[in-house]
Amino acid sequence: MPRYTRRQWLATTSATSIGSLLPSVTAATTPSQEPGSRKKTGLDLGDFEPRSMLHVASHAVERARFPVIDIHTHLSFSAKSDKGVAMAEERRFLAGAEELLEVMDRKNLRTMVNLTGGTGAGLAKGIKAYDQAYPGRFLTFTEPLWHRSNQAGYPRLQAEELAKAKEEGARGLKVLKTLGLYLRKDLTSGPLIKVDDPRFDPMWEACGQLNLPVAIHVADPEAFFLETDRFNERFEELVNHPTWSFHGRDFPSNRELLEARNRVFARHPKTQFIALHVGNNAENLASVSECLKRFANMHVEIGARIGELGRQPRTARKFFDRFQDRILFGTDAVPNGVDTPQQIFGDKLYEIYYRFLETEDEYFDYAPAPVPPQGRWQIYGLGLPETILQKVYNGNAARLLGIQI
Ligand SMILES: [Zn+2]
Repeated sequence: MPRYTRRQWLATTSATSIGSLLPSVTAATTPSQEPGSRKKTGLDLGDFEPRSMLHVASHAVERARFPVIDIHTHLSFSAKSDKGVAMAEERRFLAGAEELLEVMDRKNLRTMVNLTGGTGAGLAKGIKAYDQAYPGRFLTFTEPLWHRSNQAGYPRLQAEELAKAKEEGARGLKVLKTLGLYLRKDLTSGPLIKVDDPRFDPMWEACGQLNLPVAIHVADPEAFFLETDRFNERFEELVNHPTWSFHGRDFPSNRELLEARNRVFARHPKTQFIALHVGNNAENLASVSECLKRFANMHVEIGARIGELGRQPRTARKFFDRFQDRILFGTDAVPNGVDTPQQIFGDKLYEIYYRFLETEDEYFDYAPAPVPPQGRWQIYGLGLPETILQKVYNGNAARLLGIQI
């Protein structure tokens, strides 16, 4: 018998004979198995912009109830990167302090923390332009010297560099997903370096000794590690950003990455870690809760994950109740960005976060975009009480950063 696909075979067989030969054929051609059997709409998925016909209460929240520390923003990036690895101290700055302050004042945003502050001269330049020009309004984190991580003597050099960065004014260390997904034995080639590679132990230890909290991004959404096919709930996003897929090739699984990160948390109990993007596992709050229970030095931040939290509002609300002292406000905001609507710094972005945290509004957009950019769904507000709001907006971050609000 020639090798037909099921659909070709069905097309050559009359309906009656299918019915008599294969009584189970109806079940076998349900939409989940045979998309082609459904009527074609002629509408491209990318053009579909359904408008909700729900008539429910809607509250605009223009200013946060309490002054906000946004622990997760990006005001500068490395000016020279190769395959996801920063190669030089030179920085590219995305916005001037003055234009940011206009939005900040309107939104009751007291402090922006620029996580990607870089190293050396680039770091110093950013601290001067933001932190020192407007004290209390901007704080800057430093980053590891990835481009020297393959050199002899790196572990000690890295620890010393952190002490220098602190003296310069850095308030913490940011670790991008470079670690685990980009950095390789010879920087951009060879096998991937593991998140818990011992060469970084002096770096984690130094952060503990210097009171520099570590904002760490390890792994990515679960769907980014699966095939980009019609079952992938982030299909459109991965089609728009194919390099965000970590499916196949030599990439570790999401779980392996998070387990390696957990070993780092366990090995350095005196170092405070802020696991960004809800511990990079916002789809699985049970698992994040388990980690928070195990590691007293772990905290989480909510940047670019209200799309996840807001589609499971009852589970998320309990999570906020239980870990109200360990959750930090963050947005992952990028000024003047265009690529990722859920991260574009501006009034609209903050209004959505505030609405999510403060109201019980139902079924609204998690990003200022015509199509939800991180999956086609809407979110529900948590309606947090004032005590929790205050901790999430500023109290928890102020404690970790050692600042007064
Ligand atoms: Zn970020």
